[in-house]
Amino acid sequence: MTDLAATVHDIARQMQHCEDRGRLPDYIPALAAGDLSKFGIAVALNDGTVVTGGDSEVRFSIQSISKVFTLTLSLGLFGDAIWRRVGKEPSGSAFNSIVQLEYENGIPRNPFINAGAIAIADALLASHEPRETIGEILHFIRMVANDEEIAIDPVIARSETATGFKNFALANYLAACGNLRNAPERALGVYFHQCAITMNCVQLARAGRYLSNGGVDPVTLRPIISSARARRINALMLTCGQYDGSGEFAFRVGLPAKSGVGGGILCVVPHVGAVAVWSPGLNERGNSQLGSIALEELATRQRWSVFG
Ligand code: GLN
Repeated sequence: MTDLAATVHDIARQMQHCEDRGRLPDYIPALAAGDLSKFGIAVALNDGTVVTGGDSEVRFSIQSISKVFTLTLSLGLFGDAIWRRVGKEPSGSAFNSIVQLEYENGIPRNPFINAGAIAIADALLASHEPRETIGEILHFIRMVANDEEIAIDPVIARSETATGFKNFALANYLAACGNLRNAPERALGVYFHQCAITMNCVQLARAGRYLSNGGVDPVTLRPIISSARARRINALMLTCGQYDGSGEFAFRVGLPAKSGVGGGILCVVPHVGAVAVWSPGLNERGNSQLGSIALEELATRQRWSVFG
């Protein structure tokens, strides 16, 4: 067994015995029924090796991790024009907060808070049918993961549509400020479905590898995005990827990463590969409790922090 495999197995075993496993999100009924005992991890190295531990093959809702892929897609389609609609600064507030949006005239702080991701979903929608845009996003994620099995869980999409009152408020506020081109329910149709995509840790880690390799999938050699843009997506993941917990995460882990309320975190290790962790219990910032601890442990033991 390599050192990395031993470390990953160790971490998975350690996580099984953790007592404080965080809390399930209660505002999306379909996610409130998660199983706190689960923990999975997959490390996909750029040489093609994949090292796994725990429940690495169990699918979960990727939720806000999808925002990394829609940002990539929108940069490819619209280039820097996208930055007229969303900013590049950490928000320092909760992922679904509306407060800053009013102060800052409907320009969301960054593409990873909900308001920013809804604006990106609206840009991708252009004037197409939501169904087509949802299909394009799914196609893109299947392509970067090199896996045609990835799908959307319609139960989760419906559950969030029924209770997503804050997201409706954000979309309406964006519309009121002229930062939404489509009707709020159409932009949200795209957003809720991208969040309801389900993947396991292995699929997710593979899908994130292009960000660790200058925008090119290191295994298929498919160019996904320019290296300058991959670098910038990583910068935003580091500064904004864990919402108001991004500073603490940079301090503890020191790697670009994006979390989702489904309990997943996708983490990029530049020039090495990508890591996906999953455990459905969340900390007070809405990021996976065990996932964050596991990444801190892994980055520390492997000396992977971008800060040396
Ligand atoms: N779909 C979730 C929401 O809109 C995504 C939030 C998250 O994963 N942090 O609330």
